[in-house]
Amino acid sequence: MLAARYYGIRNIRVENIPKPGCGPGQALIKVACAGICGSDLHIFRKGMFMTYVPETMGHEFSGIVEQVGEEVTEVRPGDHVIGDPRVSCGACRWCREGSFNLCPSLGFIGEVMPGCFAECLVLDEKKLIKVPVTLDLRRAALVEPLAVALHIADKGRFSGTKHLGVVGAGPIGLLTVIVAKSMSVKQVSVIDISPDRLELAGRLGAVVLNSFPAGECDMPDTVVEAVGVESTLAGALGWLKPQGRLVMAGLYEEKITLDPNEIVVKELELAGEDAYETADLHKAVEILAGGMPEADQMITHVMPLESAASAFEMLTCADKKACKILLAP
Ligand SMILES: [Zn+2]
Ligand SMILES: [Zn+2]
Repeated sequence: MLAARYYGIRNIRVENIPKPGCGPGQALIKVACAGICGSDLHIFRKGMFMTYVPETMGHEFSGIVEQVGEEVTEVRPGDHVIGDPRVSCGACRWCREGSFNLCPSLGFIGEVMPGCFAECLVLDEKKLIKVPVTLDLRRAALVEPLAVALHIADKGRFSGTKHLGVVGAGPIGLLTVIVAKSMSVKQVSVIDISPDRLELAGRLGAVVLNSFPAGECDMPDTVVEAVGVESTLAGALGWLKPQGRLVMAGLYEEKITLDPNEIVVKELELAGEDAYETADLHKAVEILAGGMPEADQMITHVMPLESAASAFEMLTCADKKACKILLAP
């Protein structure tokens, strides 16, 4: 089968590898659509997170069960599914309590084990979530990033937010806008430097800005930082209203310098945000199966798996026109 494998920084090769077999409790899934995530770009640019090289990348997918191993009871061939891509130790206190995203050794498929940028992948059946056959498999591939946005909404206490600022109009930033709008947050402002992505944010009903506004006017009470670089974090801290709340959803490729007094003198609250809880995945399935048509606007490209390397180039170039690219094996 074909698979897009990481061989090193800016080096992804699509090659033929043996199709995996499924053991007891596992299912073989034929991948329908697989989304390229911001964390895949961290791998591509910096080699972060990867345990083995070469390795098949990718953790966001939708697909159809092709075969099941012994003792599998929950899914059967023909079922449409998405996967919970989190790989945790299963033994620590947080895993035992079901908070897998807090596991100290949390990893993801496509990083610590073979991922979904392939024609097929094998997962434990307990990692699969069935989705209705009426849910378009392209939309279903958005379940995982939507779960992130739902977790961000929780961390940012969107239900009590009047003005939300979002830094970064990538898929996570834009899905955060959609979730905020669906929760009736009155005003949503988005900052990015890509005109194409800002246009998309504008179509979703956000006020768009290409730099941080100066002065006191219109300061958000909550800001979501979804980029992960020093200048955008500093900008987010400056943009926030005193006693406002910052949700840090971006991952950093470098250590940064920060003036902590910015947080002290404005009495800001900080919330880190990583992945999601299991309930967020189920809620995301429910939402996408029931509506939220604007989420489809995230998907700017559907490309064959063979074009994986050029898709990564499109998402890491200076003038980003693409938003969510799905690879369709
Ligand atoms: Zn993702
Ligand atoms: Zn654990």
